[in-house]
Amino acid sequence: MSQARSAQPILPGSTIGVLGSGQLGRMFAIAARRMGYRVHTLSPDEDTPTGQVADLEIQAPYQDLNAICKFASGVSVVTFEFENVPAETAAAAERCAPVRPSGHILHITQHRLREKTFLSQSGLPVTTFRHVDSCENLKRAALEIGLPAILKTADFGYDGKGQYRIRTEAELAQAWVAVGEREAVLEALVDFDCEISVVAARTLNGDFVHYGAIENQHQNGILDISIAPARVPPRIAAEAVEIAREVLEKLAVVGVLCVEFFVRRDGGLLINELAPRPHNSGHFSFDANVTSQFEQQLRAVCALPLGSTQQLIPAAMANLLGDIWNGGDPDWDAAAGIRDVKLHLYGKSAARPGRKMGHLTALAPTTEQALADVKRARDLLSGNGEPL
Ligand code: AMP
Repeated sequence: MSQARSAQPILPGSTIGVLGSGQLGRMFAIAARRMGYRVHTLSPDEDTPTGQVADLEIQAPYQDLNAICKFASGVSVVTFEFENVPAETAAAAERCAPVRPSGHILHITQHRLREKTFLSQSGLPVTTFRHVDSCENLKRAALEIGLPAILKTADFGYDGKGQYRIRTEAELAQAWVAVGEREAVLEALVDFDCEISVVAARTLNGDFVHYGAIENQHQNGILDISIAPARVPPRIAAEAVEIAREVLEKLAVVGVLCVEFFVRRDGGLLINELAPRPHNSGHFSFDANVTSQFEQQLRAVCALPLGSTQQLIPAAMANLLGDIWNGGDPDWDAAAGIRDVKLHLYGKSAARPGRKMGHLTALAPTTEQALADVKRARDLLSGNGEPL
């Protein structure tokens, strides 16, 4: 389908198609329904976080191109919340409806090697990396970039999955087996001061907005806490935003994209990875900003003007992983006692360790206060905190 620059806006009352059905789609659907849109979602699962709040939930494998085309034919625009859909799926959808962002962007960002190659060829700062496709060239790559390093599968990696830290030469062969002896990227281990991200949106005619620098703390490769605004010098925040602007521009993104960075000890920035959709680190915007990242995705893909990203109050977000359910149901009542903390649950029934079940956002006059409140609320949930 042609994506003319002067696309007609897709107005409230229209139906938006979401490929993927997790929590990102759920929060998108909440934002879209609030503005009077209908939402259809397609994924291989049923009773999904997105499906529970969508108008229509289609259960079909992403490889079922007839189902994809039928799905796309029933909506005004297709967007996605899960970028690891096969390239043929995005192409099939593109034959039947506009897809925003385009399948081309998915193709680049769902594969670490393509993504890093795009970034380095664009002159953007990226972690030193080497393409690895055999144990022999893993050894060569390790000699070139040095150890310690991280071996990451080229595709289907997220939340630290498919990653192996290599400290010594003796571990190289074992790491190659651990990634399943398939195409991978060897990355130098970055000695960083902190991690930040920039969530930004861009329209068909090139309008750009961003949510500033967000500070991220990870546990076992999974995002644990985000703090907004990030506690970094303004120069670093401004540079991160400029890099994000360049990424969205070069990829001609129509929608939302998140750029994750390492802030090195000397203050330099390195891009870790891109996510061509709303991002976990931007969840605070649902409660703290004039326009959330989800509403912004809706506006961008519907060719509406973008909304204000102004943050009304400092915020901190803490993920709720399935582990919190280990000792039985979390103590919702105790956590609700912290009045400036908002609870978001994604409607997932099985609480597995490491699975993102929900999040808390604390709003406070300072980021330090928001951070302390969100941690205390989460401790109270798991029965570890001091009552009020
Ligand atoms: P990823 O799935 O690649 O975003 O990695 C998840 C997390 O693992 C990152 O947010 C970092 O905390 C850590 N990590 C990944 N790659 C590196 C690296 N090259 N150097 C240091 N830490 C890393």
